[in-house]
Amino acid sequence: MHLLGALLRMLYSRPVAMGDAMTPSRSGLDANDPGFGVYVHWPFCAQKCPYCDFNSHVRFGGWDEDRFLSAYLRELDDARQRTGPRIVNSIFFGGGTPSLMKPSTTAAILDRIAALWSVGSDAEITLEANPGSVEAGRFRGYRDAGVNRVSMGFQALNDEALKKLGRIHTVAEGRAALDVARSTFARFSFDLIYARPGQTPDAWRSELSDALDMAGDHLSLYQLTIEPDTPYAALQAAGKLIVPDEDAALALYEITQELTHARGYGAYEISNHARPGQESRHNLLYWRYGEYAGVGPGAHGRLMTCDGRVATIAEKHPETWAGQVEAKGHGLIDITSLSATEQGDEMLLMGLRLSEGVNLARLAALGSVRPSLQTVSELEALGLLQSISTGNAPPHAIRATPKGRFVLNAVVAKLSESFVPLEGIASGSVATSQPTSPLPQHALSTPA
Ligand code: SF4
Repeated sequence: MHLLGALLRMLYSRPVAMGDAMTPSRSGLDANDPGFGVYVHWPFCAQKCPYCDFNSHVRFGGWDEDRFLSAYLRELDDARQRTGPRIVNSIFFGGGTPSLMKPSTTAAILDRIAALWSVGSDAEITLEANPGSVEAGRFRGYRDAGVNRVSMGFQALNDEALKKLGRIHTVAEGRAALDVARSTFARFSFDLIYARPGQTPDAWRSELSDALDMAGDHLSLYQLTIEPDTPYAALQAAGKLIVPDEDAALALYEITQELTHARGYGAYEISNHARPGQESRHNLLYWRYGEYAGVGPGAHGRLMTCDGRVATIAEKHPETWAGQVEAKGHGLIDITSLSATEQGDEMLLMGLRLSEGVNLARLAALGSVRPSLQTVSELEALGLLQSISTGNAPPHAIRATPKGRFVLNAVVAKLSESFVPLEGIASGSVATSQPTSPLPQHALSTPA
């Protein structure tokens, strides 16, 4: 399967507000220098939500946390050998439900990261948390371990909807967890899912207003997508789950943009909203096509090595992954060198999700390509793409317009097909199309 096809299958086209210019990053990172991050995947959940296709597993008998900690530490050692020295700008514990991890485990992982690389003094260290009372009880432990930001999977502010989504927390528990997060961390975020079965515009307007009253400086608002091979997909196929159609979903989306904009949250990415300067650095690192080491079951990475940029993917099954790490020091099942064209495709796919768009100079530097001017003009004439320039200077970036967001898959495919190799680049470096692993779920889909 061609890389772009695999990537496009994972990208759900959603509209995004435009004109939300990104403020200069407080971290000093930008589209030219997205930085380096470490992603740690914790694979366990208390129960499986019926809409979820993440690499998450339920173990009613528990798990051997000491064994998993040892495996994480060994895989971090291995990742350091691949990357060489780096300054770590962000660390992200995703899952699964990382708030099921003991704070001492989190601390040991962070200590090892600090021993292996240089962690920036202002590094963002995020942990995804289930907003239940048990998890909130661990928040101070995570903070003491070094975590400085939590991202909570609320998903709904309605108990009946939470039940239908298979969530195990209640709205009251979520609100209490949020209070603990607010008093524990300088930065926190939470997620909601909209376009749920039966959700009306008035109901979403009211729910989102409540959410904005509770929010900090960042929130993620995802449209429900029915993923293949999930219980929701089976229910939908049986006619027992009916989600809002495209027009109804669009109306909900427009409410989302209207209310968040009115409260000062910029739509810096398709589903992510933040006050100026409070964008998630780790997510920006993905979407700006930065470099990151992925450790843990099913984790993906993108690393610059002496062989160029490589994509890594780890074994998904937790215990099999741990066994593999014990046997050979890492759980990677695929390490693929990315051709220039593949890097261009990936960068385009990720960057067009952002309101700041894709930086053309970096696309040229990494992908050794540029989109054809004719194709850009055609897409602009159709109102799907916009060139961004300063004054009379040539465009330095392109971004999808609101209309283009509705058909983002097609826009990405059209631009990719039009890639023109830059002069002086050996044809072999842009012509290969080795199959490779798709981008990380967390960069493309709905988190826990
Ligand atoms: S949605 Fe989140 S909490 Fe639910 S099963 Fe998936 S990863 Fe676990």
